[in-house]
Amino acid sequence: MTLTYDATVSPSAGRRFRAYTTRHLDELTARAGLSEAERLEVRAVATVLPFRVNDYVIDELIDWSAAPDDPLYRLVFPQADMLPAADVRRMADLLRSEAPKPELTAAANEVRAKLNPHPAGQMVLNIPKTGEEPFNGVQHKYDETVLFFPKQGQTCHAYCTYCFRWAQFVGEPDLKMASDNIDRLVAYLGKHPEVTSVLITGGDPMIMGEGVLNRYIEPLLEIDQLESIRIGTKALAYWPQRWVTDPDADDTLRLFERVVAAGKNLAFMAHFSHPREMLPELAQEAVRRIRNTGAVIRTQAPLIRSINDDADTWATMWRMQVRQGMVPYYMFVERDTGPQDYFAVPLARAYETYRDAYQQVSGLARTVRGPSMSATPGKVCIDGVTEIAGEKVFVLHMIQARDASLVGTPFFAAYDENAAWLSDLKPALGATKFPFEA
Ligand SMILES: *Cc1c(COP(=O)(O)O)cnc(C)c1O
Repeated sequence: MTLTYDATVSPSAGRRFRAYTTRHLDELTARAGLSEAERLEVRAVATVLPFRVNDYVIDELIDWSAAPDDPLYRLVFPQADMLPAADVRRMADLLRSEAPKPELTAAANEVRAKLNPHPAGQMVLNIPKTGEEPFNGVQHKYDETVLFFPKQGQTCHAYCTYCFRWAQFVGEPDLKMASDNIDRLVAYLGKHPEVTSVLITGGDPMIMGEGVLNRYIEPLLEIDQLESIRIGTKALAYWPQRWVTDPDADDTLRLFERVVAAGKNLAFMAHFSHPREMLPELAQEAVRRIRNTGAVIRTQAPLIRSINDDADTWATMWRMQVRQGMVPYYMFVERDTGPQDYFAVPLARAYETYRDAYQQVSGLARTVRGPSMSATPGKVCIDGVTEIAGEKVFVLHMIQARDASLVGTPFFAAYDENAAWLSDLKPALGATKFPFEA
């Protein structure tokens, strides 16, 4: 597809990476067969939520003959009904009347503020775990795990419509929380020998070139207590060239090899939303190359209505991952932010989808866990639905908890077929509180 591309958002010179943004939206949605009125509504949604795609996603992943219903189209393109109709009308009116930019931004910010932009206390958690002075770019989530958000890694090769970190992509500096201070992290780890795993996340850290990535990773190799360095990324799906044909592809693989040679597990946390993302030969070659460095690829994704909300899609995805030597890790529940009403799958149906997919795969794929809600107290897993003493309940347990003593203990919630998040659940069997509320 020939489009004028946005050179300003190319992550590094010399790459063939081209990003398309809201300026190209009308042209792209026309290709999907949308009418002029529908295209205006989509543009209205994109004044509020971030939009970014690239030519690989456009040419290799999306089935344009099936758009706009195609799941890969829906993965990256905003939909008119993702936001309340009144908000879409308001933004569409402003676009139609060519309202001045400040007016558009102010209106968009009002709509954003209603979308719980910081789920699970993202901003509040932007601090170390105990006592110390807060600093940007580090979240000490669980005793053994620290998340690090490198400053240059705060964008992605394309944006998922359901992203729970959408607020950081809409250009409000005070919503950002990144760091370029690796020394500060190293000093923090020195004071916290209990931390054995650093998770580099974003955005997508693989948007960074090898030189920058190396500056963050190399100092961590000296820290003996670290068992693993994780990289959370969607780039195997959105830009597999990163490990195959990009100018720094080979250097990046050598960096991965150095991590492994330093005696650490390089855990590559790959976000795959749909089996089609694993089909291109380029993606499969990237998987082979990454695995050849000694890195382990683990896979995770949220369960999203209209994109991957059926058991066969997940079973197919896990099977393809096992075949390619990847390790299924988590199925997440969509978080309570942004267009959650649009994408949410109720917990009862999420559990059934997980169970029906799990039943179809061999033990090698049953490394996966879920459906899991990553919420403020930790990760809550829905283990099942049962009846106890005549009361229908959800059986739950915590996979992770800010208070580690809560991990692994079963607890119950009153069954509610519409509940879609932890905050919708009520304790069951006479309990007045959940264990994490005590
Ligand atoms: C899952 C998760 C982690 C990592 O936890 P593991 O169970 O060790 O994979 C870190 N932070 C958040 C917010 C998470 O949801």
